[in-house]
Amino acid sequence: MAKETSFDTAELLLFMGPPGAGKGTQAKLLCEARGLEQLSTGDMLRSHVSEGTELGKKAKAIMDAGELVSDDVIIAMVQAKLEEMQPVRVLFDGFPRTTAQAEALDELLAEASLKIDSVILLEVNEDELVERLLQRAQEQGRDDDTEEVIRNRMKVFHTQTAPLIDYYGQKEDGIKAVDGMGDVAAVSERIAKVLS
Ligand code: ADP
Repeated sequence: MAKETSFDTAELLLFMGPPGAGKGTQAKLLCEARGLEQLSTGDMLRSHVSEGTELGKKAKAIMDAGELVSDDVIIAMVQAKLEEMQPVRVLFDGFPRTTAQAEALDELLAEASLKIDSVILLEVNEDELVERLLQRAQEQGRDDDTEEVIRNRMKVFHTQTAPLIDYYGQKEDGIKAVDGMGDVAAVSERIAKVLS
């Protein structure tokens, strides 16, 4: 039976997975179902870029190359967002992406006596990932969805973000791996199941 969700108590979920795994799409659905706010550091950075803020100006070139924006900038952005949330009901999407970010998040949460309820890893094979991202490039025209940048983002994921699978896997609550292949509805059902 599905666990009761009360929208006035804290809940923190974390989505991990390579670029193109469908984190953003699934995050939106899950947030609607559970009354969570989606905290996508990628979306936050893209807002800065489109608004032309100082941060956005600095981040653009890094994002266009498929590299990671500095940990300090990202952590400050997330901290500011968490501080304005009451209760903290959040789905982290695309954060943390480095061990330093994960450690900083642990500290922030410990200070607020909060903890991550579930870490979900969306798994999709690499050929499918590249295909999905190239398709998205045609539909949305994101500047970082060219084949060369996509390959670099994959590399960055494997070197800088994949170690977090172990980082969270070793914690008491572990990590919930979900097969991200197939259509959106099938994947969201699998996610709901591991959370029930
Ligand atoms: P995707 O998951 O499809 O790669 P995102 O929207 O999550 O896309 O991120 C786009 C870009 O924004 C990344 O390639 C990176 O440059 C930057 N970015 C997003 N989140 C982070 C983060 N937590 N740390 C560092 N850079 C980030």
